[in-house]
Amino acid sequence: MKKILTGIKPTGDFTLGNYIGAIKQMVSMQEEYDSYLFVADLHALTIPQDPKELHERLKKFIAMYIACGIDPKKNTIYLQSENEYIPAMSYLLECTTQYGEASRMIQFKEKSKEHSNFSVGLLTYPVLMAADILYCDADYVPVGIDQKQHVELARDIAERFNHRYGDTFVLPEPMISKSGVKIRDLKDPTKKMSKSEENPQGVISMFDTKEDIEKKIMRATTDSDNQIKYDMDHKPGISNLLNIASSITGRTIEELEKEFDGQGYGTFKKYVASITSEHIMKIQEKYQQLLNGKELDQILDEGIQKSRTLAKGKYDLMKQRMGVIR
Ligand code: ATP
Ligand code: MG
Repeated sequence: MKKILTGIKPTGDFTLGNYIGAIKQMVSMQEEYDSYLFVADLHALTIPQDPKELHERLKKFIAMYIACGIDPKKNTIYLQSENEYIPAMSYLLECTTQYGEASRMIQFKEKSKEHSNFSVGLLTYPVLMAADILYCDADYVPVGIDQKQHVELARDIAERFNHRYGDTFVLPEPMISKSGVKIRDLKDPTKKMSKSEENPQGVISMFDTKEDIEKKIMRATTDSDNQIKYDMDHKPGISNLLNIASSITGRTIEELEKEFDGQGYGTFKKYVASITSEHIMKIQEKYQQLLNGKELDQILDEGIQKSRTLAKGKYDLMKQRMGVIR
């Protein structure tokens, strides 16, 4: 069975975009692949975080993964920070990564401009990500297009290590979903919905109340021609709502266009608001049960045990190959 691995940074509330773009994709692949899913809490630290808020998000994210359909029996689920071999491996990999390679990463260039006095961690972030991927010999890494360059760097680092020290790592490949839609911000549908967005009116959090979800959808920015037609270039607002409705119900865009033909935006928005809020409320019901139960700790204990065993094996092998062993 081929292995896939992915993680989400707990930098803000888990959004409808993360659900549709990342988690639903993992759910659809969990039968066919040996799947690893983690909360990338060490990655969140590369940008300043409030420790209390960050701490509270960790278990919320795990409970949300499972409430969204991730099966703990088919996935290895863990917190990145509980595996101490991963940052240890990352150091060894830093010594096989060129400074030029790391500083050429687009995300580093962008984020280092946004934050004055940015941390060294921001520069070494992709190397830590390489350790995340390489320790368990992941074959594929399902990510959004913004992360493709980092997975390719992980592959380059692995190739160099294998060449220099002998075969140690499987070479990973990014897996960019063809059908994977990018959910847009409801207030500004020209940009993507992001958990670090300042204005919450355009972002649906998976923790929002039913009323808030409905209000945000009813107030979503749309054009004025009142035609329910998919056209991302000219009608991004209504196209985004069509994408959301289609992802949630499994119905095609064409079917939805036909059903709502001539009915106007108000009726269509009411429909999208109702199916989306109902869908999220069902997930939240499961989420609440998980958050209050004991199951979560058991899932994390099992996940981290498996993850640490694999990482220790890989770390020891790397040290041996590099000559730093007694
Ligand atoms: P941040 O604003 O901190 O970058 P984010 O919402 O972009 O947060 P990430 O942790 O960067 O979330 O990404 C987690 C996963 O969710 C990635 O696989 C990414 O491709 C996917 N994703 C993020 N936003 C969207 C979106 N709007 N539509 C579809 N997929 C998304
Ligand atoms: Mg992002």
